[in-house]
Amino acid sequence: MESPPAPPTDPRLAGPNLRDRAGVRYSDLPVRRLLNRCDSKRMPDCWTINPYRGCVFGCRYCYARYTHEFLGFDDPADFERHIFVKLGAPQALEAESSQARLRRRPIAIGTATDPYQPAEAQYLLTRQILEILSRYRGLEISIITKSALITRDIDLLQKIAARSTLQVFVSLITVDKELARILDPGAPTPERRVQTLSTLVKAGIPAGVNALPILPGINDGEASLRKLFAAAARANAGWISVGPLFLASASRKSFLRWLKGAMPEQLPRYRRLFAKGMDVDPRWRERLDARVGRIRAQFGLPSGPLRPLDRDSAEQLALPGVVGAEMRQAS
Ligand code: SF4
Repeated sequence: MESPPAPPTDPRLAGPNLRDRAGVRYSDLPVRRLLNRCDSKRMPDCWTINPYRGCVFGCRYCYARYTHEFLGFDDPADFERHIFVKLGAPQALEAESSQARLRRRPIAIGTATDPYQPAEAQYLLTRQILEILSRYRGLEISIITKSALITRDIDLLQKIAARSTLQVFVSLITVDKELARILDPGAPTPERRVQTLSTLVKAGIPAGVNALPILPGINDGEASLRKLFAAAARANAGWISVGPLFLASASRKSFLRWLKGAMPEQLPRYRRLFAKGMDVDPRWRERLDARVGRIRAQFGLPSGPLRPLDRDSAEQLALPGVVGAEMRQAS
């Protein structure tokens, strides 16, 4: 396994905002290419863009912890306390982007980090990336975030939405403030996220809720899901996507270790439901789908944005391969 990268040397990494966040270290991660091509069952043919690596929001279920394992970090907590900043991201994107290349497949921003985590207030990398993308027409762009900071960029989002297809997913898996603090300890409160969603919608940005992951025995109750749908409806969300937890190798290790300490009574259930691998037992998934289907029918909220070519169709179609539902579990 590689050694972790060297400590930060770039003076831009020592700004006052970030020093104030106790216990978090920031390092530059040199980047030659920012567009990462993904083509897998979980992540159909798309470009992904992640301006940071690691995320201070520290969601217990975050599947993206594997990205730190690649860097040689063994402790899953390093994902939220050692953030890598791709200072050269805008320059890399400038060098590798062209209209033809960007149009080739959908672009998903924030699949393995939150692109609007606190570091963005200082580095403006996501904003610079959006500035570049806003020059093009006919792209398909999705952004996934839990942060209110995205509203800073409404001017750019409006420009992009006028020229390309844009979909913003605000991640929210419960409206219970206490439960959210336990599951997403560093992230904005549910109330703040609902406000963010509402602000985006009022500004004309196509936006909906990303309710992934639903965790067996934790946020999957009928009443809990109903409150989530009600909050989305109040904010005039365009959609609410719902899907179960999946536990890839790095997240499985850290999530089950956390569960054992925080909710030990749940551990046997998780061992049983995830006995065959990273996907939940299909019988549990069927029950979840049935429950969500009933609630969805009551609120009349679709499960995802319509395809660009199907906007006038009454039929709701799945997201056109921007990112698979499970991948939206990150951010
Ligand atoms: S799930 Fe998203 S917001 Fe939470 S730690 Fe992972 S990347 Fe950050």
